[in-house]
Amino acid sequence: MIDDARVHSVEEHLERVLDGIGSLDPIELTLLDAQGLLLAETIVSPVALPGFDNAAEDGYAVRSVDTRDATADAPAELPVVGDVVAGAKSRSGMGPGLAMRIMTGAPIPAGADAVIPLDETDGGVARVAVRRPTRSGENIRRAGEDLAAGEPAIGAGAALGPQQIALLASIGRDRVTVRPRPRVVVVSTGSELVEVGQRPAFGEVTDANSYLISAAARDSGADAYRVGIVPDDHSRLLDVLESQLLRADILITTGGVSMGAFDVVKQTLSEVGTVDFVKVAMQPGAPQGFGHLGNHVPIFCLPGNPMSALVAFEVFVRPAIRKLLGKRNIQRATVQAAALERIDSPAGVRQYRRGVLHREANGDYSVTFVGGSGSHLIASMASSNCLVVVDEAVTEVVVGSRVTVIPLLLSHR
Ligand code: AMP
Ligand code: MG
Repeated sequence: MIDDARVHSVEEHLERVLDGIGSLDPIELTLLDAQGLLLAETIVSPVALPGFDNAAEDGYAVRSVDTRDATADAPAELPVVGDVVAGAKSRSGMGPGLAMRIMTGAPIPAGADAVIPLDETDGGVARVAVRRPTRSGENIRRAGEDLAAGEPAIGAGAALGPQQIALLASIGRDRVTVRPRPRVVVVSTGSELVEVGQRPAFGEVTDANSYLISAAARDSGADAYRVGIVPDDHSRLLDVLESQLLRADILITTGGVSMGAFDVVKQTLSEVGTVDFVKVAMQPGAPQGFGHLGNHVPIFCLPGNPMSALVAFEVFVRPAIRKLLGKRNIQRATVQAAALERIDSPAGVRQYRRGVLHREANGDYSVTFVGGSGSHLIASMASSNCLVVVDEAVTEVVVGSRVTVIPLLLSHR
């Protein structure tokens, strides 16, 4: 246990969290399922790319020596002895002084050493007039010029985007070993909560957080399992968490971590002894729980106000998920923007404010604030597209001053 009376800085808490995040065993996935993930093996190509010498253009396969003296006025006239199509099953051949009509990607016939593009000929069928000399090798894609057989195609640690997936397909790999997507289990706590679609009675609130955090987890690259609502009840909470441990790489709860008498998450998990509840010098999102349950499964206990939960997710959980994915950049990118409005900010606390980021015509960014600092404001959360970070030492952001902004861009998965 750590001293939870002390206020921890954002960096301190993040460091503790990241120290508590291990790694996941690699798994084998089919190519498209592996999109966005990091390779856990180095893949050596069993084949050459291209696999055979082939035509880079539609045209005629020729021997370059036969076109040596060709000009527009006195073309080389060559009998066309056949066609070579893409997909031709065997290698054709041609003798000196002859040509073959050839399609892009078709194998170069034995005896030919150049391809003259169609539009530099008369396009003849029985005979072709070649209007200029060709160079040996011209318009021929050489076997192995892209990648030689036995050469590493992609190294361990590389991220699999469309281009890498295309290469793997080209060399015949349909399954690859990758770092898996973390399985994130999301639980909302609160006896006031009702499931979406149920009409809330007086005093009840529709559960937004399990959707918010599941969506944020997926957006960070995880697979999310939205468990839904658990009331403020010790044994129900423990039962649900225990039953979820088997499929969780990360557990996340929201709600119940403040000082209130019904803050059941904090009370219950404090007794378990492996989860610490601390106060972090940030706003919103000051009360934070982090630790491990069961067989060392990390658990994040985030505060219940949706904006607090989102900020806590962005600051602590997203980097943890990115670390599990093996990503090098675990933090979101930031930009500097000019504040178009003035705001106050408490001293000694890092404030994260909802903002709307604009990009000016000259490429500079500016930002306005939405919704004040109330962390219950879901509509203004939805109308914002960034978090504005106001550092601990700053107590006033004046109009025109530069602030650090985290654009909440939708990630690819
Ligand atoms: P708590 O952190 O449990 O004290 O909750 C703080 C505030 O957030 C209360 O107003 C709760 O009703 C609200 N809240 C907690 N959980 C959720 C949730 N899942 N969806 C929407 N609001 C919530
Ligand atoms: Mg609550």
